[in-house]
Amino acid sequence: MKGSVAVIGAGPGGLVAARWLLAQGFDPTIFEQGPMVGGQWTGLGAQSGIWPTMYTNTSRVLTAFSDLEHVTDRAFLPFTEIRTYLQRYAEMFDLITRTRFGTRVDLLSRDGDGWLVSHSGTTERFNRVVVASGRFQKPAIPDVPGLDTFDGPAGVISSYDYPGSAPFRGLRVLVAGCAISALEIAAELTQLGADRVVLTQRRQRYVLPKFAAGVPSDHRIFTRYGALANETLAPPEIDRQLKEIVVEAGGSPEQYGAPVPNPSLFAAGVTLNQQFLPLVAEGRITVRPWIESISGGVVAFSDGESEEFDGLVFGTGFDLDIPFLDEDIRTTLNIDAVHLDADRYTFHPELPNLAFMGMWDQSGGFFVPLELQARWLAYTWGGVIPPIDDAEQRQAIAAYRARRGLPQKSRMNLAAVTFARAAGVEPRPDNWPDLRRALLFGPLAPSCFRLEGPDALPDAPDRFAQEAAAFGAITSNEFTERETRYWSMVESLQ
Ligand SMILES: Cc1cc2nc3c(=O)[nH]c(=O)nc-3n(C[C@H](O)[C@H](O)[C@H](O)COP(=O)(O)OP(=O)(O)OC[C@H]3O[C@@H](n4cnc5c(N)ncnc54)[C@H](O)[C@@H]3O)c2cc1C
Repeated sequence: MKGSVAVIGAGPGGLVAARWLLAQGFDPTIFEQGPMVGGQWTGLGAQSGIWPTMYTNTSRVLTAFSDLEHVTDRAFLPFTEIRTYLQRYAEMFDLITRTRFGTRVDLLSRDGDGWLVSHSGTTERFNRVVVASGRFQKPAIPDVPGLDTFDGPAGVISSYDYPGSAPFRGLRVLVAGCAISALEIAAELTQLGADRVVLTQRRQRYVLPKFAAGVPSDHRIFTRYGALANETLAPPEIDRQLKEIVVEAGGSPEQYGAPVPNPSLFAAGVTLNQQFLPLVAEGRITVRPWIESISGGVVAFSDGESEEFDGLVFGTGFDLDIPFLDEDIRTTLNIDAVHLDADRYTFHPELPNLAFMGMWDQSGGFFVPLELQARWLAYTWGGVIPPIDDAEQRQAIAAYRARRGLPQKSRMNLAAVTFARAAGVEPRPDNWPDLRRALLFGPLAPSCFRLEGPDALPDAPDRFAQEAAAFGAITSNEFTERETRYWSMVESLQ
């Protein structure tokens, strides 16, 4: 064995990190505060913001790791199916026996070139530590004047604590926010018996349906082409192309009676949701601008309107929160509620043998980038790829620091390609003429990152062809007219 590694958290990030560290000959011990593996996907109150009726926002193909396929061919899955999937994955790699359940890490601190992990009144030393305690564990509730005076019978909760629609039956509910959870909860309450649902938001985002023309939208939008375009084209052109795909799939919000979004998709933002806009069009959800103030049960909005509510649900995102890091680590990372200075969210040159998993915010599925991040980390520590140059890491951190304060949300395809490249497993389309279109314009299915490089699999080409063709998406190698147009822009600049 190459040495001990403490992995903090048994969610998808911790499990996939332990799987790839084991393959590199390390001896991982997983610390999990809860009673089972799966993190958010357990649906258990203390470690999960997923509610009882939640389905994945991301397609089955993109909510999986490369070693294990789902047993169903449904496009989107109930969260319980992902919970079972993660349990099977943990059993497949014998990770359950390596997990100490009910063990909450209270403090992580440096000890020479190793790390001390304190929990349950004791301290253990490990050669290396992976922090995989989750990016979406602490709901962010914005400051709203008078929020503490709200006295509606259903009270104020965050989407993290949303228990399902039953307690809101027959009630008037205000949902605050415009990200996925807010729109999903608003749509669910509307259809499952709330008396009235109003959504309040700071700005109108574009809304991309989960499904368009029978194909999950994440297969179309989070492509390798998109990542390459991001590196070569000017931001206004990328903005234009993304907006073209989004509006073609779901129209623009004002067509449904919602406010007009900023013409720039980057400025407005985009959320994935199937039912929200049609429910606005039917008049079953009312959209209001942001809250001005609250007094008792009455909420005043910035358009001068006010209305009485029985309950408030905030779906306003999550703060980055890793409470067990000691002061030395916190200062080095310059950590706050949004940022953590690390090279590609993973390493810091002054914190050797320590790595972070899953600590970025993005649109799109986490499983594929998490697996690629785990492989990069395991290949780096295992010596499969050369150690990262110190100066290069400092440069990457300085570049990240310069972006502090700007919108930080990434996109799944950008994160996946970044980690794949770092791990040396980014497939080259020219090596795979039969898969060229699928590799550029198809889904970033986990199998495409087993085509070449370390741990390539002989069945990866067939699996990837099948996954790209799922839902009738990429069934031929012929570019469409738009793909030809888009690709010629990027190819000429590469
Ligand atoms: C409402 C909601 C819906 C989502 N929908 C999707 C989706 O459709 N598709 C998708 O790909 N992603 C989705 N996500 C993102 C989701 O967070 C990721 O899929 C994935 O769970 C991230 O894995 P993780 O291991 O990094 O973190 P988590 O899943 O959060 O797991 C972290 C684990 O660390 C443990 N832990 C934390 N602190 C400690 C400590 N001090 N000591 C010991 N253990 C600790 C926690 O108990 C938890 O088990 C969603 C997230 C939310 C909140």
